[in-house]
Amino acid sequence: EAKLQLVQRHVRAFPDFPKKGIVFRDICPILKDAAALKAVIDLFEEHVRNNHQHVDLIVGLDARGFLFGPLLAQRLGIGFVPVRKKGKLPGATVSVSYDLEYGKAEAEIQEDAVAPGQKVLLIDDLLATGGTLYAASELMRKQQAEVLGCMVVIELKELNGTDKLKPHRVFSLIQY
Ligand code: IMP
Repeated sequence: EAKLQLVQRHVRAFPDFPKKGIVFRDICPILKDAAALKAVIDLFEEHVRNNHQHVDLIVGLDARGFLFGPLLAQRLGIGFVPVRKKGKLPGATVSVSYDLEYGKAEAEIQEDAVAPGQKVLLIDDLLATGGTLYAASELMRKQQAEVLGCMVVIELKELNGTDKLKPHRVFSLIQY
């Protein structure tokens, strides 16, 4: 499809970033091109409208989930909630720690961000091992929200992130 090809053409690969041996997929060219960014949101919107009858909130991950999530939420006429790295959010928060390649990190939401029973979709730019989206799904579980699925622009297939996220379904636009 034309939209998908437009998006694909606006992803760059940087070998050995942030460290040797890693190929970093860079979505910045998508943001810089109005048509490519619109295509991303069009494709996400189409997926949501075709697969989900009712969604209460889009929940986006720090930091590149914030670039796509609010645009999609606006399209759908619903709200956006940020999951942040620890220590950034004021007021009462709920947090969960998760493993990074080296060491640990903590993800956090505001305690009143989602209500029990609310149906949410999680969004980020890229799925690698799935650790980050899994942490967000744990936060939703703690808050008794229902995760309808995960959405990413890019999925790195060889890292099997979709296995880690089961039973949640993952929708990706581009796979490597
Ligand atoms: P995971 O937790 O291993 O799935 O890693 C996904 C998280 O790391 C996402 O929040 C991504 O933004 C970031 N990430 C990992 N690899 C890349 C990459 O190649 N390009 C852009 N972001 C990446």
